[in-house]
Amino acid sequence: MNRKFQEQDLVLATHNTGKIEEFKHLFGEVNFNITDIGQYYWQPPEETGKSFWENSLIKAREATKLTGLVSLADDSGLCVDRLKGAPGIYSADWAVKSNGSRDFKFAIEKLVREIEKTNFENPCTAHFICSLILYWPDNHFEKFEGKIFGEIVWPGRGEKGHGYDPVFLPNGYKETFGQMDRWKKNKISHRGLAMDNLLKACF
Ligand code: IMP
Repeated sequence: MNRKFQEQDLVLATHNTGKIEEFKHLFGEVNFNITDIGQYYWQPPEETGKSFWENSLIKAREATKLTGLVSLADDSGLCVDRLKGAPGIYSADWAVKSNGSRDFKFAIEKLVREIEKTNFENPCTAHFICSLILYWPDNHFEKFEGKIFGEIVWPGRGEKGHGYDPVFLPNGYKETFGQMDRWKKNKISHRGLAMDNLLKACF
């Protein structure tokens, strides 16, 4: 039996405004406050976990420790079968250039280079994963996951979205995530599916 969220406040363990907007949209109308962690001196912890869910647990635990509130944290990434699941938990790291700046064109170029090194045949199957942790001050937590399967296509298509969206074509669709309307993507995406599971279980 999952624990139900019955508190007055929930804090989202992220500074990423895009994610905050997505989460708020996915929650819809709620009768509790969604607190901005930006009000606190939140230094996102190092993601030293070996899996998506370990990393989301690290973020959620730290956010609750800092705020004393129930927190929601996520960790997500792209897993390419041909690359044995890479970039996986290192999806964000693949965008870091030698000068320290982040550039997803650079990450996508690396992704395509790595795929081209393999003896692949189309389709180049891949999936996005999102792990969510809802964490209470008494250290109880509930975890949820969402996955969306598809393939990597290049050159990338579309200017919408973020990260690897232009090169990810979800199964059964003609548009890449980069071409898809944001709210349409939200309905089918790994984050949307993980949120669905969480909402059904705990809210
Ligand atoms: P984190 O979950 O913020 O640690 O980072 C996840 C990383 O995975 C992002 O920086 C993106 O590179 C990638 N990623 C996760 N979800 C998506 C998505 O929906 N579209 C494109 N890239 C994503």
